[in-house]
Amino acid sequence: MTNPPEKKNLFLNEFKSPIGFQWHITTNCSNYCKHCYMYDEETYADERKNTLPLEGLIKILDDLDGFEKKYNAKFTPFGISGGDPMLRGDLFEFLAELKKRGKHFIIMGNPDLLNDHNLKKLADVGLKNYQLSLDGLEATHDFFRSKGSFKRTIEKIKFIRKYGIDCNIMFSLYPSNASELIPLMRFLAMNTEATSFSFDIGVMSGNANSMKNQFTANDIHNLFTEYYLEKKRLKEEGYSIFFLEKSNFHKLINFENELLYPIVPKMGNVLSGSYIGWNSFSILSDGTALACRTMPIKVGKMPQESFEKIFLGNTFLKKFRRPEYFKVCSTCDFYAMCRGCSAYVYGITKDPFEKHPLCFRDEILKKTDENQNIQKGPPLETTFEEEWEYISLHNQMPRLPTFLMEKDFQYTYLDLSQDAKEFLKNPLVYIKNSKRELSHDQIGFLMQRFSDLLNTQRPNLNEQDPIADYIVSCILKDIDQSQVSLAKV
Ligand code: SF4
Ligand code: SF4
Repeated sequence: MTNPPEKKNLFLNEFKSPIGFQWHITTNCSNYCKHCYMYDEETYADERKNTLPLEGLIKILDDLDGFEKKYNAKFTPFGISGGDPMLRGDLFEFLAELKKRGKHFIIMGNPDLLNDHNLKKLADVGLKNYQLSLDGLEATHDFFRSKGSFKRTIEKIKFIRKYGIDCNIMFSLYPSNASELIPLMRFLAMNTEATSFSFDIGVMSGNANSMKNQFTANDIHNLFTEYYLEKKRLKEEGYSIFFLEKSNFHKLINFENELLYPIVPKMGNVLSGSYIGWNSFSILSDGTALACRTMPIKVGKMPQESFEKIFLGNTFLKKFRRPEYFKVCSTCDFYAMCRGCSAYVYGITKDPFEKHPLCFRDEILKKTDENQNIQKGPPLETTFEEEWEYISLHNQMPRLPTFLMEKDFQYTYLDLSQDAKEFLKNPLVYIKNSKRELSHDQIGFLMQRFSDLLNTQRPNLNEQDPIADYIVSCILKDIDQSQVSLAKV
């Protein structure tokens, strides 16, 4: 009998609370897109005038490293954007600094400056994913961005892939391009080597403020349903493009298709959903910190203020971690995994905690049979340490190793590798019928994990499931040890 391989223990050690960054390092751009959120009066002029030099970016990185050590946090990934980050002269020095510090990063940029020389340098510095945007088929996309942009983008997908870098295509959905969502998915699957595709509902901010036409909740329900069916068809037809689901409204569609069941949170904490305040953070070129890049509300200024002070101390950010501030989401059984999109709500109502005007929750059947009383979060007056403990409870990671060691959890996990769909229809009933004893948190974790595995597992990650691997190795080790003890008898 073999001992568990070393890598599995390493995997466990990596369970730290993850926080992703969207870091805009320049305002320079060759486009002036009709929907660009960068041109927001409140932030743009200062960003443009006071873009931080490389030393400023490095000071921020030093501060982030200090936070990681102090709180056992993991900052990943860094989404480097702009403007077009390729237009920043010291981009490669900055990326080399990220690499030196072991940071995982992706670039969200334009196709224009991608050539053999630059792509080789990007591959050498460890870039794994370059995200490009397409906002429709050729005429529509060029109308949004610039003439010839569609052709340039399609051509550069091939180039990016040639250097072994993944390429995600991002589509921002507005009423004026909605009819091209499905044709674009099919076009990309059939004609390009794009690794993945994602879309989200465009937020009214910056230039997009001039777009008066709005969706209704019914439009969104229909569009997301069409997307779900097309994704299924493309998969059945054998196309390998992967669909990354950014919007929380996919959860409602997955619920309708019995691939997700709402679990009511305990202690005000959450399982997934809107990242704001929990596991994401945005930094602008001048160091301005925003709760979310598309919601222009400043929460701090770096490097003058530390990440610790902003993330754990800013009252506005803290409110996103307390259910009671959300006017409608707080009473919804999807609270723990959705909370809509506060940036969209802010763009429309100027109050991020208002009801999401596009939520189609009421149109679908309510199924939860649990007590619906969503509890309050802790008071706003927490210390930094108390606030972090609450955040990392959400991120699950510190609790996970303990879960993994429990026998009932281990066997349920392995059973679910075969039976996940049945479980996701109603996890509470499934566990009750299986006569296993799992806590609410454990059930919540399993639901989130199996729903992710069924719906959004990323390409090119481990073919195997590392948690299942680890569990099997624990069981094998257990059997091994009992055999050793038996041999002694
Ligand atoms: S959306 Fe992107 S490409 Fe378009 S102007 Fe803004 S930063 Fe430039
Ligand atoms: S009410 Fe809020 S949490 Fe519930 S489904 Fe709608 S947006 Fe999501």
